[in-house]
Amino acid sequence: MDADADAFLKEWYTRIRALTTTTPAPPLPTATALTTARSSLPPSSSLLTPLGPTATLSHLLTTIAPALSGHNLSAHYYGFVTGATLPVAEAADNLVSALDNSVQVHLPTQSIATEVEDAALRLLLRLLGLGEGEGEGEEWTGRTFTTGATASNVLGLACGREAVVGRRLKGDDGAPTSTGEHGLLAACAAAGIREIQVLTSMGHSSLSKAASVVGLGRRAVKELPLSAAEPWRLDLDAVERALAQGEAQGVASIVAVSAGEVNTGRFAVRGVEEMGRLRGLADRYGAWVHVDGAFGIFARALPETAEFAALRGMAEGLEMADSITVDGHKLLNVPYDTGIFFTRLSSTLHSVFQNPNAAYLSTSSSSIPSPLNIGLENSRRFRALPVYAVLLSEGRAGIAEMLARMVRLARGIAAALVSGLSADYELLPPPPPPPPPTTTTHSTEGEGGALARRDGTDCIHMVVLFRARDAGLNEALVAKIQGSGEWYVSGTRWEGRPACRIAVASWRVRVEEDLEFVTTRLARIAREWKEGGE
Ligand SMILES: *Cc1c(COP(=O)(O)O)cnc(C)c1O
Repeated sequence: MDADADAFLKEWYTRIRALTTTTPAPPLPTATALTTARSSLPPSSSLLTPLGPTATLSHLLTTIAPALSGHNLSAHYYGFVTGATLPVAEAADNLVSALDNSVQVHLPTQSIATEVEDAALRLLLRLLGLGEGEGEGEEWTGRTFTTGATASNVLGLACGREAVVGRRLKGDDGAPTSTGEHGLLAACAAAGIREIQVLTSMGHSSLSKAASVVGLGRRAVKELPLSAAEPWRLDLDAVERALAQGEAQGVASIVAVSAGEVNTGRFAVRGVEEMGRLRGLADRYGAWVHVDGAFGIFARALPETAEFAALRGMAEGLEMADSITVDGHKLLNVPYDTGIFFTRLSSTLHSVFQNPNAAYLSTSSSSIPSPLNIGLENSRRFRALPVYAVLLSEGRAGIAEMLARMVRLARGIAAALVSGLSADYELLPPPPPPPPPTTTTHSTEGEGGALARRDGTDCIHMVVLFRARDAGLNEALVAKIQGSGEWYVSGTRWEGRPACRIAVASWRVRVEEDLEFVTTRLARIAREWKEGGE
C-alpha cells in the first residue's frame, strides 16, 4: 500500500506540473471553463458514491483547475496584490504537505520544526532591517507565522488592546490584571476605559475586521487623513489631539500605520522624523503603534542604491512600532496562507494567546515558545518552511533583486503614464513636482533612478494607480483590459471616480518586456477608443 501511495503521488505530481506548461498562461479562466466546471459540481442531492482517487484527480485537473485564476502562472496578472509562488517555495510547500507536521508545540527532541520557524523569523527580521533577532537585548521576541496580513492585524490589535488596557490596570486586591485573563469588559471597567479607538489613514479593510474580531468594533477605526490630496498620510497633529482628548475622556488608543496604503502603495507615516514623533506621542499617552506593512515593509529590503533611496527612506523608522504585520504570500512570493507578525515582547503574545491548564501541551523552558501559546491556532501548518526555503535560496541579494524588478516595472509604467501616455491617461495621485535642478551627481545611480527623479515617480513602490482622461473610456477601462484575456488589473475608486490599479508582485516580472507589453496595450486601447468610440 505504501509503495502504491508513493507511485500514485509521483504520477500525479508529474501530471500537476504538466498542467502548467501553457505559455503564455492566461490570467483568467475562459467563460466556457467556468461553465463546464460549475455544471460538473455534484448536486446537493448527491449520494456521495465514491469516485476513487484517480477519477477524482482527473476531475480536478481537467475540469476544476482550468476554471481557476491563473495569477500564479501568468506574468501579466496585476490584480489586487496577490504575489505568486517562487518555484523553490512551491517545492518546499509540497514537502510541507508530504510530511504534514503540525507545528504547535516546541518539542526539541522530537522535531526541528519550531526551530526552523524561529530561524526563518529571525532571518526575516534581518532582511527587513528590524534587528539582529538574537543575543543580548534581543528585540521582537514576540514573533510568529500567521495565515496572512489579516490575521496579523488581528494579532496587532489584540496585542495593542492587551497593552493599552494593561497599562491602566493596577491589579491590586484581586482586581483584573489583564484583558486576556479577565476579558475586555471587566478589564476596561477596572481601568476606567470606555472605548478603545484605532487611529489610522486609509487603513486596509482588514483593520476594521480585526477591530470587530477583538471586540473594539469596526466603528472604533477612525480616519485621520492629512488632507484631501494626500488621504493616505496620517495627520499627526490630529493624532496628538485625539490622544490627548482620549486620555481626558477614558478612551485608550491604538495607532495603525498603513505602510503602504493598498490603492497607492504610499506610506501613512514617512520616514524617521514622522515615526519618531508618533513614537513620542504614543509613549506620552500610553498608546500602541501598529504598522500594517503587509507589502510596503518590503521597501526596506530593496537594494541600497540611489535608485531606491527615496522609497527606502519612506519606510525608515517603522522599526519604532510596537507591532508589525508582514505578508508572506504577497511580495515574498510564497504560497497562501502565509503572514508574519512581530511584536516587541513575547509576553504580550502569551498574555493574549496562552492555552491555560493544558499540561500535555507544556514545554521546556527554551527560548523558543510553543507556537500554540503565541498565536491564533493550536494545530497549524508548517508554513514557515517555504519562507525558510526562499530566504536560503535567494538570500538578501536575490530577494532585493526580485523586489527591484517589481519596482522598476511599476515605475516604468508610471513614467510612461506621465510622459508618452499622458494625453490619454493620468497617474494618480499626481506625482510630486520634480526637485529643483541639483549639481550633485550620483555615481551609483542607474538610468531608472535619474528618470524617476525627474518625473517624481520615485515615490512609486509596486502599485500604479491611474485613470483614463476620457470619462467614457475610464468607465470601461478595467473591463476592456480584463476582457482581453491577456492581462489583468484591478478596478478601484479614487476621489469618487473609477480608477485602475496595476500591482506588480510576481517573481516572473521581466522589466523591459513587460513594460513594452503594458504600454503598448494601454496606447492601443486609447487609440481604438478614439477611432471607434468603443
Ligand atoms: C493584503 C493586505 C492586507 C490583508 O492581507 P491578507 O494577506 O489578504 O489577509 C492587509 N493590509 C494590507 C496593507 C494589505 O495590502
